[in-house]
Amino acid sequence: MKITILGSGTSGGVPMINCQCSVCRSVNPKNKRLRSSILIEVNGKRLLVDTTPDFRQQMLRYPVPRLDAVLYTHTHADHIMGLDDLRRFNYLQKETIPIYGNAATIAHLQTVFGYAIYQGGPIHPGVPHLLPQVLDGVQDIQGVEVIPIPLMHGQQEILGYRVGNFAYCTDVSEIQQSSYPLLENLDVLILEALRDKPHPNHLTLKQAVEQAKKINAKQTWFTHISHILDEDVQGKNLPVNMAFAYDGLQIEL
Ligand SMILES: [Zn+2]
Ligand SMILES: [Zn+2]
Ligand SMILES: [Zn+2]
Repeated sequence: MKITILGSGTSGGVPMINCQCSVCRSVNPKNKRLRSSILIEVNGKRLLVDTTPDFRQQMLRYPVPRLDAVLYTHTHADHIMGLDDLRRFNYLQKETIPIYGNAATIAHLQTVFGYAIYQGGPIHPGVPHLLPQVLDGVQDIQGVEVIPIPLMHGQQEILGYRVGNFAYCTDVSEIQQSSYPLLENLDVLILEALRDKPHPNHLTLKQAVEQAKKINAKQTWFTHISHILDEDVQGKNLPVNMAFAYDGLQIEL
């Protein structure tokens, strides 16, 4: 299995528009973060998690020959607004692409992107051709066992995902007790760490480190990072087996 970090930034990306802070002006490429998304390659299948507003840029920067399915964590704009560009893959592959999420996510995507839901007929380049499916437990997706992990994101229940001994949990404020057993015995965990000040919808770096210690994966990478956190400052002072993820990072398991 190979994981590629397509983006590791929070909703506004890093650098932020019109910000002159030291992180936004940093020359360290690890401090330049597109919106958060990953590609999971396993058993020859490619599963994308989220279609960010940077999706087109991510596909140009980290080329992916085909997409077999898209998993959505939730429907905030920074996780869905690149959906329209999936049409390029539909057209190249001459087939529909299944998309997955919890019931609230699928309902929202059908409302916002109703034109992209496949209704039959030929595949043409003008629109995406997507087949939405609601996840309510472990699912075989293209021969890959995917375990949805319910997480709290403020008042909203969203999904993280586990494949084998890897899990991806972004946009988390709290992990419900019933989800911890789904996070046992991980080799690699990707977990959100937004900034240092508390936020109602997100983990701070300190909270994320506490959660990472509790979950105790062999390696934890933090993602969905804002311009408040500097790879060259906070990123250099993390416990062993923890680090900031960065765009383009590839993790082999
Ligand atoms: Zn987000
Ligand atoms: Zn800044
Ligand atoms: Zn969110």
